[in-house]
Amino acid sequence: MAPDTVPAPGARAVLDQAARRRTIAVISHPDAGKSTLTEALALHAAVIARAGAVHGKGSRHGTVSDWMEMERARGISITSAALQFEHHGSVVNLVDTPGHADFSEDTYRVLAAVDAAIMLLDAAKGLEPQTLKLFEVCRHRNLPVLTVINKWDRPGLDALALMDEIESTIGLRPTPLTWPVGIAGDFRGVLDRRTGGYTRFDRTAGGATVAPEDHLTPEQAQALEGEAWTTAVEESDLLAASGADHDQETFLAARTTPVLFASAVQNFGVGRVLDTVVEVGPAPTPRELVTGGARPVEAPFSAVVFKVQAGMDAAHRDRLAYARVCSGVFERGMVVVHATSGRPFHTKYAHAVFGRERTTIETAYPGDVVGLVNAGNLRPGDTLHVGAKVEFPPIPSFAPEHFAVVRARDTSRAKQFRRGIEQLDQEGVVQVLRSDLRGDQAPVLAAVGPMQFEVATYRLEHEFGAKVMLDHLDYGLARRTDASASAALRGVRGVEVLTRSDGEVLALFVDRWRLGTVVKENPDLLLEPLVGARV
Ligand code: GDP
Repeated sequence: MAPDTVPAPGARAVLDQAARRRTIAVISHPDAGKSTLTEALALHAAVIARAGAVHGKGSRHGTVSDWMEMERARGISITSAALQFEHHGSVVNLVDTPGHADFSEDTYRVLAAVDAAIMLLDAAKGLEPQTLKLFEVCRHRNLPVLTVINKWDRPGLDALALMDEIESTIGLRPTPLTWPVGIAGDFRGVLDRRTGGYTRFDRTAGGATVAPEDHLTPEQAQALEGEAWTTAVEESDLLAASGADHDQETFLAARTTPVLFASAVQNFGVGRVLDTVVEVGPAPTPRELVTGGARPVEAPFSAVVFKVQAGMDAAHRDRLAYARVCSGVFERGMVVVHATSGRPFHTKYAHAVFGRERTTIETAYPGDVVGLVNAGNLRPGDTLHVGAKVEFPPIPSFAPEHFAVVRARDTSRAKQFRRGIEQLDQEGVVQVLRSDLRGDQAPVLAAVGPMQFEVATYRLEHEFGAKVMLDHLDYGLARRTDASASAALRGVRGVEVLTRSDGEVLALFVDRWRLGTVVKENPDLLLEPLVGARV
């Protein structure tokens, strides 16, 4: 055994703590109900009998302060990066994937920090573009995915048709754990496919955390629901006959996805989601190393930085890095090694952060997320460790879909401009592409979400003193290519080849149609999709 993998004292305790952890993220398209589900999960776990604390963007503000109160009262720790709570003896770390307008590479990087994902679908919409993009990242990481069909209380697609869509679009075989009784829009409850029992949706139950559920026998269900129950049983039998039953091994191998039906806004089915995460969700496992092999969870402390946030909050003008513990115990005050620079990093200030509020984290175990303050040198993908050198593979860059040329407004600020671009590139705020044709004064910024440009422009001006001009380019997709393609594609209309700062050569295309014709005319060119791209 290599010296750095010798278990630290207390390895047994670390293993026990790691085994209790479930570190997950929700992937969904905006409006599928991610915030509603997240809040409902947190409230469920906290068992706070308070009505109306969940729901809706309008009341989001109120909910936030409710959370902080909960945090004090119940020891739940909330960060803008992760929400931690206990359920049935397990510790769930729900790592936030920012949705909506701030969709960016950060969203993807979160998936490098979790052990499983909940794919949340709107029953009326099925698989939507953002869900698919995020799913591609899960596939790349071989992450187990649990599927939740939300908004079953509203008219939507047929349940079996939804299962077909999942299987044919993403190739994951759905293995429903529950099956809806009543079509979408007439949600009466769910058939528990394991026990055959009926969980009835009780619309009269009040409160955000009182589960609006009654548990009934199949006979009672038949008497109460008649035709709707019969249909559910028949469909469930059909699923069983086609082998669509949950299998832990194929789920962990990311070949099948357990499915649950829910109405997050009405808090129905939410408890079951939580139970399922704890029951079937994977605990942290050894993480692969650059040098080959994997770091056991009971090895001395190591963590991977997956998100860096700078200058966002006027009250705390420092830089925050979020790291996921991969092995060992994190204790506040520890001096760890930043693998990239080889320099020590003091963790005196380790926090759980939510907005302006910070609470101090004292101890964290594999699967947990810590926010590190004064993290000026840390970058997404960096490794922190104690003892002999440990290095995890970098987090892959994702397929950009937005491109813009950036130039300094004032040429006398060229130095500041160059320094700023270099810094943003290293932090992973945007990707930076260059070509001889365009020169160093006018690099191309590439992003997965347009919001990344705003952050870059703002920071170039305010942090580096370089006002810039952005010229949006018409390209909409990128493919990985090589130097020989670069020569072949020179001068082809609607295509441009540039080199990313990590050395990757990217061919940009205005649209899918242009890509199609280029592929047809040059069948031998290397043109591979990048991570996160919809193939
Ligand atoms: P996010 O963008 O994914 O975070 O979605 P939100 O949680 O903000 O929800 C978007 C909208 O859908 C809000 O108006 C919610 O109240 C609503 N919503 C969420 N879950 C459900 C549900 O189960 N049923 C219905 N009918 N509406 C829901």
